Amino acid sequence: MLDKPPPLLAGEGWGGGWAGYGAMTLFSRLDAMPALSPEERLLLDSVRALARDEIAPRAAEYDRSGEFPWDNVRAINGLGLNAMFVPEAYGGAGLSYAAYLACVREISQACASTGIIWATNFHAMKPLIDFGTEEQKQRLLPRVAEGAIGALAITEPDAGSDATHMTTRFSPDGERVVVSGGKIFISNGDVADLYLVFGKWAGIADDRKAISAIIIEKGTPGLTILRKEDKMGHRAASTVALAFEDCPVPRANLLGAPGDGLALLLAALNKSRPSVAAHALGLARAAFEDAVLYINQRRQSGRRIVEFQGIQFLLADLATDLAMCEAWLWHVAGLVDRGAAGRAPGIAVEASMLKLRASDLAMRCATEAVQLHGGYGYIKEYRVERLMRDAKITQIWEGTNQIHRQLIGRSFIARS
Ligand SMILES: Cc1cc2nc3c(=O)[nH]c(=O)nc-3n(C[C@H](O)[C@H](O)[C@H](O)COP(=O)(O)OP(=O)(O)OC[C@H]3O[C@@H](n4cnc5c(N)ncnc54)[C@H](O)[C@@H]3O)c2cc1C
Repeated sequence: MLDKPPPLLAGEGWGGGWAGYGAMTLFSRLDAMPALSPEERLLLDSVRALARDEIAPRAAEYDRSGEFPWDNVRAINGLGLNAMFVPEAYGGAGLSYAAYLACVREISQACASTGIIWATNFHAMKPLIDFGTEEQKQRLLPRVAEGAIGALAITEPDAGSDATHMTTRFSPDGERVVVSGGKIFISNGDVADLYLVFGKWAGIADDRKAISAIIIEKGTPGLTILRKEDKMGHRAASTVALAFEDCPVPRANLLGAPGDGLALLLAALNKSRPSVAAHALGLARAAFEDAVLYINQRRQSGRRIVEFQGIQFLLADLATDLAMCEAWLWHVAGLVDRGAAGRAPGIAVEASMLKLRASDLAMRCATEAVQLHGGYGYIKEYRVERLMRDAKITQIWEGTNQIHRQLIGRSFIARS
């Protein structure tokens, strides 16, 4: 008979399975850290139940099929989560950034694909909330609150880490702006209702000063989906290449003035980078919890794996880094909620540190979780195999970790 524990039941890591693991109370204390209102705590409880009971049990099948998880998206909207980050004046609930991050982490722990689909709505629509005109907000935000899907389109074939080389062109034409060019690797790109697109204003020569931002609505003539990528992980979240073939977009959809795009983008990153960090920490927590449960059951040489001192040292390092990183997440959340993010640079260095450390930790926890499962870690029957594939992209998107190290290091150069 095989001496291997059964794979975790979906949702086993959400509280119920932790009786008897003394050290895990430290994570409960960390979860209590963000200053959430009673209303936000209730919402988070509902999100946790949804993640445990519906989203986690469906995650393996969505990973296998690569289908877009519409039932998860509908369930999330059923709880009113798209409305949580939209101000009350535009049909939303206007809840805190900390509450939003806590929900991202919870959903991503259950299914990283679903987590990034929902978080992308926030990344794409938050700049509209922060920098849109009253008319734009009245017209577009109620749709977001009701569940419209957003996409954020920056990356191009020859403009990845250095977005200033983008070539998508915005040409003014009376009351319209004609958008031409293309984007790659756009999350939600085939299912979005609203696209926040960055491009260059025709007639402004300076690469940085030409960057502008506009909202393109689904169904705009000339907006074409070229292909859907076949990915290593996050297989249920769609990632597509887009073409803009002289798309006529109302000038009323321009965010800010021509040339405001780079400042908008940098300010937006201060809120999207902590969000992808929360997503990565959901993955890290899932991997860590699966590993701890497994090595408490699996026996070799007459002992549980967790009883070997070499394994305990590894757990100690992972748990310590996880605790520090989660504490930093709530520190950054508090800064944003107190209004420190604002216009760039704001909290750029803190956000970079968080994104860098959370994503490296997600990859490390997932890789070590596979290792701790031995051969079974390499088999799809156990969730850690998927977590390792899902974790890798967190070190690449939203600024690769090389770029974040550069941003953090550069901030210490004295200005002459
Ligand atoms: C699944 C997925 C989803 C994505 N979703 C979106 C999205 O919704 N919207 C969007 O706009 N984009 C999205 N992206 C794009 C993503 O943000 C880019 O892939 C990322 O920024 C890196 O750009 P690149 O792929 O062109 O790599 P490159 O910039 O070509 O980098 C290649 C390598 O060189 C390194 N490198 C580059 N410059 C430097 C430097 N100055 N110093 C040191 N090393 C450097 C990089 O770190 C990397 O290791 C997504 C990508 C993927 C794969």
